[in-house]
Amino acid sequence: MTEQQQSYQILLYYKFVYISDPEAFKSEHLQYCKDLGLKGRILVSSEGINGTVSGTVEQTEQYMRDMKSNPLFADMVFKADPSEGHAFRKMFVRHRKELVTFRVDDELDPNVISGKRLSPQQFFEQLQQDDVIVLDGRTDYEYDIGHFRNAIRPDVESFREFPEWIRENMSQYKDKTILTYCTGGIRCEKLTGFMLKEGFQDVAQLDGGIVTYGKDPEIQGRLFDGKCYVFDERISVPINHTDEDVIVGKCHHCGEPEDRYINCANDACHLQHICCEKCEELHQGFCSDTCEETVAAG
Ligand SMILES: [Zn+2]
Ligand SMILES: [Zn+2]
Repeated sequence: MTEQQQSYQILLYYKFVYISDPEAFKSEHLQYCKDLGLKGRILVSSEGINGTVSGTVEQTEQYMRDMKSNPLFADMVFKADPSEGHAFRKMFVRHRKELVTFRVDDELDPNVISGKRLSPQQFFEQLQQDDVIVLDGRTDYEYDIGHFRNAIRPDVESFREFPEWIRENMSQYKDKTILTYCTGGIRCEKLTGFMLKEGFQDVAQLDGGIVTYGKDPEIQGRLFDGKCYVFDERISVPINHTDEDVIVGKCHHCGEPEDRYINCANDACHLQHICCEKCEELHQGFCSDTCEETVAAG
């Protein structure tokens, strides 16, 4: 790697903490991030902050120092990945009602109610116990390119569908030990709180998510099959660093093992689908014959 390639980082972080004027915070923070030269996506809410940004090592280190000097974020955990450059095209800071869109009537404050937090080592040990139920806390398309072995695949396309899906599909497991996980940990903070309120007895979450699990030097991502979907230009990252690494996705066209996502070349469709290189060439990046014909007909 050249010096240029090593000199960028991607940060992933969140913190549930009361922000009194999120609208004002949003505007100031956007200007500050732009001045610093960062790119990425940050959500701000009265319930806290959730962000993923890229920048040079110098810029991202400065960002972490500045954030930690704010008493609200003094103990915020940053997950950092080296990068070959920016992983985003622009810098967005947005004000949202919820940090993760869950839309349940009850307020779910992870500082008040949330499942037990398991370290990667504890989670790895629990995964191997008999009689535990492992629930993927992400959406179906994230699950499809990689997940923990034997995890339940939630049939949801967005996080806000979870409450209904859980009520309809998980109620027989209320007295079991439930383990949940997501990309960086934030979605499980809400999901496990919701499940406890629904009467699940024993709910635990992977602290720091899959991304943190993959960095543990002893576990090396064991029992995670495939790749982890991420919401930046990398699209997915490797987690299992042992020789047990496998490909779990299947090409949308030919069904061969594959774990790369592409967007349909028909702009009106833009469907994200798993596609092997051969089929991408053969179908010219279209997800279906219909899309190919629509564009050809112009
Ligand atoms: Zn294919
Ligand atoms: Zn299409």
